[in-house]
Amino acid sequence: ILIPFLGLVLAFWFYSARDTFKPEMLRGKRVIVTGASTGIGEQIAYHLARMGSHILITARTEAKLQNVVRRCLELGAASARFVSGTMEDTAFAQHVVREAQTSLGGLDMLILNHVGASYFGFFDGDVEHVRKLLEINFLSYVAMTTSALPMLKESEGSIVVVSSMAGKVGFPFTVPYSATKFALDGFFSSLRQEFAIQSINVSITLCILGFIDTERAVRAAAEVLRERPAPRDECALEILKGAALRRRELYYRYSSTRLPLLLRDCAAELLDYLVRSRYRLPAAPGA
Ligand code: NDP
Repeated sequence: ILIPFLGLVLAFWFYSARDTFKPEMLRGKRVIVTGASTGIGEQIAYHLARMGSHILITARTEAKLQNVVRRCLELGAASARFVSGTMEDTAFAQHVVREAQTSLGGLDMLILNHVGASYFGFFDGDVEHVRKLLEINFLSYVAMTTSALPMLKESEGSIVVVSSMAGKVGFPFTVPYSATKFALDGFFSSLRQEFAIQSINVSITLCILGFIDTERAVRAAAEVLRERPAPRDECALEILKGAALRRRELYYRYSSTRLPLLLRDCAAELLDYLVRSRYRLPAAPGA
């Protein structure tokens, strides 16, 4: 009895040791972080800086990016620089990747995190808005991945895709946003399959986030959501841990994302009901 028991303990110890994150894993790594002027992306940049990575950040607002770069250097980044521009333009997405090639000489991790502005409310039928949001939240992710792939293959690096519970299950009031996040799952989960078939050693981590306390999200949803937002700095660190450990999916926080999703295949109606019950809904007309 003792020998199989010890074997089990040893196997468990080996598995946990293999699966332990250490900040040194990201020391000296060359990383692009998109949408890093505010919110979760900004916090990802600060964690990377503390871990001693080379960081290239991007967003539209130059003044904010300058401040984030300055802070990253204070926190100990091996190097920090920015490129400003809009991800509505696929050429800009490709330009950011070229900048990593020129200034960092390669790339170990591509963190795709930016998100375009959308509305919080019933779907208003504006097809052009859906198209524009797909360009920012989806097509630019595809364009950056395509451009970065040769460098990532060489470094056996990682792609990190920041998505949402709204990209795994239908959510009311964010229809265009949800559509773009579902598209990311389809593209990157399929690409991961092709990497496996072709023995391409580039990991893809899809991050499924719940409600996080960034200014944009709190402004949009704090009044109507019944739950408290989780802290963005902790969320950012969990994303980096999942990325460094080359996880296929990361759920933050687990209790409000992974656990409810377990219902999806066996009790979809119940899950839909639970999602709706998170909102303080206005009374139906005539009620
Ligand atoms: P923020 O709104 O705080 O940050 C968004 C970032 O994207 C900013 O740096 C913004 O900078 C940049 N950005 C916006 N539009 C463009 C554009 N057209 N081109 C280039 N950059 C742009 O978002 P969060 O930190 O809240 O969200 C980060 C990620 O986490 C997103 O992918 C989001 O979907 C996901 N997420 C967030 C949740 C939350 O509750 N906060 C929940 C679930 C998922 P600038 O304006 O300077 O361009």
